[in-house]
Amino acid sequence: MNLEYSEDVLAFRDELREFLEGWPLTGDEAKLALEEQRRLFRERGIERGYVYRDMPKKFGGSEQPSDAVRDRIVKEEYLAANAPGGLIGQGPGMLAPTLMEFGTPEQQERFIPPTLAGDMRWCQGYSEPGAGSDLASLQSRADLVGDEWVINGHKIWTTTAHEADYMFGLFRTEPDASKHAGISYLLLDMKAPGIEVRPLKEMTGAAMFNEVFFTDVRAPADHIVGKRGEGWQVSRATLKHERNLIGDPNAMHRAFRNLIDLARRTKRGGRPAIEDPSVRQRLAEIEGYLLCQEFTGSRMFTAGARGDHAGVVMPMMMMKLYGTDLQQLLTRAACDLVGDGFLLAPTVEEGSHGGPQGTDGAWVSSYMNAIAVSIAGGASNIQRNIIGERALGLPRDLRSA
Ligand SMILES: Cc1cc2nc3c(=O)[nH]c(=O)nc-3n(C[C@H](O)[C@H](O)[C@H](O)COP(=O)(O)OP(=O)(O)OC[C@H]3O[C@@H](n4cnc5c(N)ncnc54)[C@H](O)[C@@H]3O)c2cc1C
Repeated sequence: MNLEYSEDVLAFRDELREFLEGWPLTGDEAKLALEEQRRLFRERGIERGYVYRDMPKKFGGSEQPSDAVRDRIVKEEYLAANAPGGLIGQGPGMLAPTLMEFGTPEQQERFIPPTLAGDMRWCQGYSEPGAGSDLASLQSRADLVGDEWVINGHKIWTTTAHEADYMFGLFRTEPDASKHAGISYLLLDMKAPGIEVRPLKEMTGAAMFNEVFFTDVRAPADHIVGKRGEGWQVSRATLKHERNLIGDPNAMHRAFRNLIDLARRTKRGGRPAIEDPSVRQRLAEIEGYLLCQEFTGSRMFTAGARGDHAGVVMPMMMMKLYGTDLQQLLTRAACDLVGDGFLLAPTVEEGSHGGPQGTDGAWVSSYMNAIAVSIAGGASNIQRNIIGERALGLPRDLRSA
């Protein structure tokens, strides 16, 4: 592990920091709607080569040479400046890289540019009532009739389906093939006739999930990514990006700093909670885990910078499991500090993912969210199975046919 940056990398970081001083915008630009300001600053970041670094220019990226060190610096500095970089939804974060890997040139040209610009929003249609961890059991079906797919079935837990323009999803196209071999990866227009989206209310009070029902929905035959019956392989690429998005150590550092701040502000027996030995012990324990996560991240980073793929893959798998466990530990400690203040937490507004930011009540929804993300993108038990089988070489879990 090498934690020293070279001279040219330090110069790159200085230039980036100078650029990031331009956020928040000032003067007339500060009068624009916030969404417009974010878009403007993102476009500047693309021009400068900081945002969407691995995406071609013709698709709206900045097409920089592959460089794990600079990628990491960009991530860290944007986070520290709280500045708008690349969009991170399911479209830009998961579908766009999947299309780069498996899409046809036409699909890339049609779908990637509006997705990166935030003009085309996506949802992920994988899970079904009888197919979550055992995803390959999915039953929603697509039949090729003439030059169209005709789709019937039912998806569940579809995040943001109610506001998405398109869905990337898995459908059974070869009912006679074995369960993994009979699936294809399709792109569907969410405004197509026959699609019905029904919201699911979460315990946070928000409704970001949905059920999606398909009745004779039609999609053009060429809206398939990868080959017919090979959707399972395509979906593995998308999931890899989802797990990557979920276990971000930088975000955890910020949450830990907020936790320390909370412990300083909260009173225990008339004194700041941070002076209470039991609170200090708990904070030290969390910081220990956080450092382990950081060093694992540094191992991945050094391996990536050296082009050592194997050195990256296994720690990356651990990061999702470890990151979500740590997130629960951390937010749980915060909730205990907030104490009965919980009950005063303002109700979450419809359509938002968590409590209002900047209030102690926001920790409650962060805690609930921490439980949710340990399930999203593959539940923790499944991550343990994968690590056990593929990294530690333990015997395979029993699988249904
Ligand atoms: C925040 C969030 C966002 C989501 N967004 C989407 C989305 O946009 N699109 C989408 O398609 N899906 C989405 N999901 C669904 C998610 O992928 C599934 O919830 C997840 O795969 C688990 O499936 P399940 O809910 O059916 O649980 P189940 O598979 O029924 O699992 C129930 C429990 O059994 C355990 N279990 C199951 N099998 C095994 C095994 N072999 N070994 C050990 N333990 C096992 C699990 O770990 C879990 O604890 C989202 C979920 C969450 C929480």
